[in-house]
Amino acid sequence: MENEYRKWYGEKRCRKALESFGEKGWNTFYAETPEEAKTILFDTCLPKNVSVGLGGSETLKVMNVLPVLRNGDYRLYDRYNTADHFAVCRESLMADYFLTGANALTMNGEMVNLDCSGSRVGAMAYGPARIIVAAGVNKITAGLDEAMARVKAIAPMNCRRNSHKTPCAETGICLDCNIPDRMCNHLLITFNAKKFAGKYTLILVNEDLGF
Ligand code: SF4
Repeated sequence: MENEYRKWYGEKRCRKALESFGEKGWNTFYAETPEEAKTILFDTCLPKNVSVGLGGSETLKVMNVLPVLRNGDYRLYDRYNTADHFAVCRESLMADYFLTGANALTMNGEMVNLDCSGSRVGAMAYGPARIIVAAGVNKITAGLDEAMARVKAIAPMNCRRNSHKTPCAETGICLDCNIPDRMCNHLLITFNAKKFAGKYTLILVNEDLGF
């Protein structure tokens, strides 16, 4: 059964964080559930007949966005259905829209992401005209120190999810590996979104999504 106090607390945290992101130039939306987030995404944020790139995201998976994106109303760079993942990720750097999750979002309105190849953070920093981030309340941290700790703490789970042959994918503990499969390669902190008006959108969901 859903805990009403946890839900209340989560909403307060989401709305406070969204206020900070709004002050830094983000378009912001609050959603109670992944289903509501999906409705906001497709009814309000993402127009039809645009090209769409994707960042790997457990949150987008929970929102079940792929069937809609594949239905013909969008030109999807489908990283999950290709023989050449690298080529699709490169092409999606020029998409009209880029949909992704986030590793950490601070109460001060900063977003922190850590990548292996850089295909996601590259797109989030520059390329696609619009970036839409969907994330659960569990991604919110007090500030950048906690965000950095969070990003490192979840790295072993991301390695295991993506079948990276890293020591942490077996032990759950970071050994600061120095091997080709290392995931912790590119760190992006998005401090502010006012450079290009309307470029960044955040849909924050009052549920724990992804990790
Ligand atoms: S540096 Fe290597 S061992 Fe540490 S979390 Fe990243 S991928 Fe895992």
